[in-house]
Amino acid sequence: MRSFEEHRAAVLEAVSPGDPVRLPLVDCLGLVLCEDVSSHVDLPPFDNSAMDGYAVRAADVLAATDSNESTWVTLPVVDEVAAGGVAARELGAGEAIRIMTGAMMPPGADAIVKVEDTDGGTEKVLVRAGVPSGTSVRPAGQDVRAHEVVLASGAVVDARRIALLAATGHGEALVRPRPRVAVVSTGAELVPAGQPLLPGQIHDSNSHMLEALVRECGANPTHRLSIDDDGDAVLALVTRLADEVDAIVTSGGVSMGAYDVVKESLRDHGVDFVQVAMQPGKPQGFGRVGPRRIPVFALPGNPVSSYVSFEVFVRPALRRMMGLEPEFRPVHRARLLGPLSSPPGRTQVARAVATRGEGGWLADPVWGQASHFVADLARANCLVIVPAETTRIEAGDDLEMWLLDDGPGKVTP
Ligand code: AMP
Ligand code: MG
Repeated sequence: MRSFEEHRAAVLEAVSPGDPVRLPLVDCLGLVLCEDVSSHVDLPPFDNSAMDGYAVRAADVLAATDSNESTWVTLPVVDEVAAGGVAARELGAGEAIRIMTGAMMPPGADAIVKVEDTDGGTEKVLVRAGVPSGTSVRPAGQDVRAHEVVLASGAVVDARRIALLAATGHGEALVRPRPRVAVVSTGAELVPAGQPLLPGQIHDSNSHMLEALVRECGANPTHRLSIDDDGDAVLALVTRLADEVDAIVTSGGVSMGAYDVVKESLRDHGVDFVQVAMQPGKPQGFGRVGPRRIPVFALPGNPVSSYVSFEVFVRPALRRMMGLEPEFRPVHRARLLGPLSSPPGRTQVARAVATRGEGGWLADPVWGQASHFVADLARANCLVIVPAETTRIEAGDDLEMWLLDDGPGKVTP
């Protein structure tokens, strides 16, 4: 038997980042930039007004003081300029040009009097408060200089960086692509979610869960399929998908039963089936198939086993394919609020609800630790790792913990 660390290392060894592609900005969300990006423009591209108001020469209005009416200044309004426009003429001494936020500063003007400090006139304007030169002017290049590197290769594209890319003149970016992933559940007992069950049947939850997990980790779930326990059909499907996608994740059919057709059909076609010293998730298949040698993850069928297997093996592999770091969940320590028993010689990956206590993380194991408890899986927000040699954990013991979400917040019904 392999340890889960050994199997994870073997899986990671076999996958590598995809070749960079140029994608429209929003499609780059969550992906890694593969080149330094420099700005095509100054940002702002030109001196412009930060306020709705009047472009003036500061010297003409400097004396105006709100509290002293005799200091107020009246200037003729000689033009008007809105965002996107350009003033038709230069501003002369003793003149004002009405201006809107974002509009280009008229030549000759060096300050903006905001509309609130005036009577808002359109023919002439009464200025009640003077401003020093430069007031409410956003100078060209103040934020970014043209040709300056604004994002370095390796940055992960998020919404804020998408704003920066767009503002600096980029409609696309060169990124590590999202792997296309096919999810295939196997089992003669499976019925599509939403359809009624006949005796002996269950709803196919794994394919939906795995599709969601693929999407959640940033990859692209292109296929969600369910297939009967028919080895020839499994092999034919995997062979076809190997031409269309970058990774395949199957569930079910990998253990010791009479109908474990995934194992039977793929073991001679590039997928190795191994026993991993963990619970849940002992039977695991992994290999590379097809002319492009795409990775195939053959996960066990019990929902919790499938989930844990995805977390431990598939998620880090997909993150490696996308060049995302860290590949693993951050590791915390947590004090257990209840006991756990664990089989000897196998690392138990138990589900628990994590909360922030005074002295650090607390983890309350969910009641159902067997691999068919879907509701307790849904209640959990963390995994706690019971080392292989440990068979009993008592409340108060301290364990490694992986937070599954950004933080606590799972509501226990
Ligand atoms: P298997 O690994 O195929 O032997 O399946 C192990 C257990 O997981 C059985 O109880 C199956 O009915 C269940 N199972 C397999 N596939 C799914 C699925 N897609 N959704 C929900 N349960 C499943
Ligand atoms: Mg099965």
